[in-house]
Amino acid sequence: MIISRLTAALAAFALSLAPAFAAEARAPLTIVIHGGAGALEPGRYTPAEEAEYKQKLKEALNTGYAVLESGGSSLDAVEAAIVLMEDSPLFNAGKGAVFTREGKNELDASIMDGKTLKAGAIAGVTHVKNPVKLARAVMDHSEHVMFAREGAEEFAREQHIEMVKPKYFFTEARWRGYKDALAAEKKKGASLPVDFKYGTVGALALDAEGNLAAATSTGGMTLKRFGRVGDTPIIGAGTFADNKSCAVSSTGWGEFFMRLTIARDVCAQVEYAGKSVKDAAHDVIHNRLQSAGGDGGVIVLAPNGDYVMDFNSAGMFRGVKQEGGEAKVAIYGE
Ligand code: ASP
Repeated sequence: MIISRLTAALAAFALSLAPAFAAEARAPLTIVIHGGAGALEPGRYTPAEEAEYKQKLKEALNTGYAVLESGGSSLDAVEAAIVLMEDSPLFNAGKGAVFTREGKNELDASIMDGKTLKAGAIAGVTHVKNPVKLARAVMDHSEHVMFAREGAEEFAREQHIEMVKPKYFFTEARWRGYKDALAAEKKKGASLPVDFKYGTVGALALDAEGNLAAATSTGGMTLKRFGRVGDTPIIGAGTFADNKSCAVSSTGWGEFFMRLTIARDVCAQVEYAGKSVKDAAHDVIHNRLQSAGGDGGVIVLAPNGDYVMDFNSAGMFRGVKQEGGEAKVAIYGE
């Protein structure tokens, strides 16, 4: 009798410890974001503008992290963080997207689930308020991976995704950038001005189940033409996620990211060469992208919670929030 009571007490004690051990064994909840890479030198923004960017990045991190903390999936976390940045006029995604040569806003986005390798992407939409939501709907509610232009918008209406008039995306600052780019091009001939792109947004998350997800959203590049589509909606270039290796979101000169399949290459180096995410990202950005003549950056997250935010441009809007820590954000090079 006494012995069986003792056994029961011991069993209860062991059970009470179990959740603590389980929590210890789990990788830390993590969200990593970027808000675009480019010629971001200290002094480019006023202290007030810097504070505004940092505040928005923190808000995006906290929004995504809240999803993870309440037991939500990494997919829901990246989507929530991206929606917040799409709705902000500060970034080149959703409201505040850059202008095409014809003075329009054409948006691209993608999302990928590291657990199932399912993915959704959309390109060249002009009326979808939150492109990342449409990319998610393509993944969840169609048998395809990517829809473009009118077809993507038809699907958006079918899925009851919020549509807006094109003028919703307009901001004074981007319009000025567009006019400046046109003027600079006229003066210099064919070459594009250095500021022709900025502010694509991306997010990666690791949830309590250990699943990774990645998403990216952009207005592309200023003065893009002929229905140009960049790397952002291309799975393996702008976005990639696989629980076996890592999750990646890219930003930078899209043509290079497409040709070098940057996002997939980082994860392939992790998967096949056994590299850390740090070493893989370093090789892809500072060797492969650099020697090809491209510029930009990636954020990368591993299933164990290791992460890196690497770039060969002067700066990259970026941030991370990991279990037990505060939201950390930065703009310029270290
Ligand atoms: N990669 C995006 C594109 O080429 C632009 C950017 O990241 O700034 O469309």
